[in-house]
Amino acid sequence: MSISENLKFFKNDLPETVSLVAVSKTKPLEDLEEAYKFGQRIFGENKIQEMTDKWQHLPKEIEWHMIGHVQTNKVKYMAPYVSLVHGVDRIKVWSEIHKQGLKNDRVIHCLLQVHIAEEETKFGFSTEEIKEIIARKTLLEFPNAKVVGLMGMASNSDDKDKVRAEFKGLRKLFDLANELGCDFKVLSMGMSGDYNIAIEEGSNMVRVGSKIFGHRNY
Ligand SMILES: *Cc1c(COP(=O)(O)O)cnc(C)c1O
Repeated sequence: MSISENLKFFKNDLPETVSLVAVSKTKPLEDLEEAYKFGQRIFGENKIQEMTDKWQHLPKEIEWHMIGHVQTNKVKYMAPYVSLVHGVDRIKVWSEIHKQGLKNDRVIHCLLQVHIAEEETKFGFSTEEIKEIIARKTLLEFPNAKVVGLMGMASNSDDKDKVRAEFKGLRKLFDLANELGCDFKVLSMGMSGDYNIAIEEGSNMVRVGSKIFGHRNY
């Protein structure tokens, strides 16, 4: 299947309330150009350097989402243009995004990444830490790194019940945050292998790579 055919499939398959982030990490500019021609306007990358190179070469109306683990010393390179940072997983990075937002006279939208999978390797705050952040009103400390929602990655597992339970837990936290006065709009969960379950559990933003661009060669 070609990139445009895959995008067409997603346009038909996804509910209108769900945004599609086309995860283009490791893929060449031609692939992004093809997706752009077919109307895709949101791209997700996991390396700031690679995203910045692509941003420089492609039309400026594209929204760039940083979906990977963010190194503090690289925030400055994406601060002028990034649309949404999904992977805010520690206070230090959050505070640096705020600082760079101020410098660039921008409010940079962010998602707090929550650790929902069993695997040790996945980054993110715990549910307890998110509750503390809300209780301590940390959200008010970084107005130029405005948190607009939550992001999570489920376990890389064939056990669908487990994946569903992890997404359900994140959805519960998202709802609780809003009950406690947060104004969260974005719940970013779901990738090529599990986006259907994620949407059933309330995701309104999916990050899809291989099902659009094909498998990645690292
Ligand atoms: C790579 C990546 C994706 C996309 O993965 P696919 O399985 O190719 O759809 C989604 N989210 C994050 C955080 C990623 O790093």
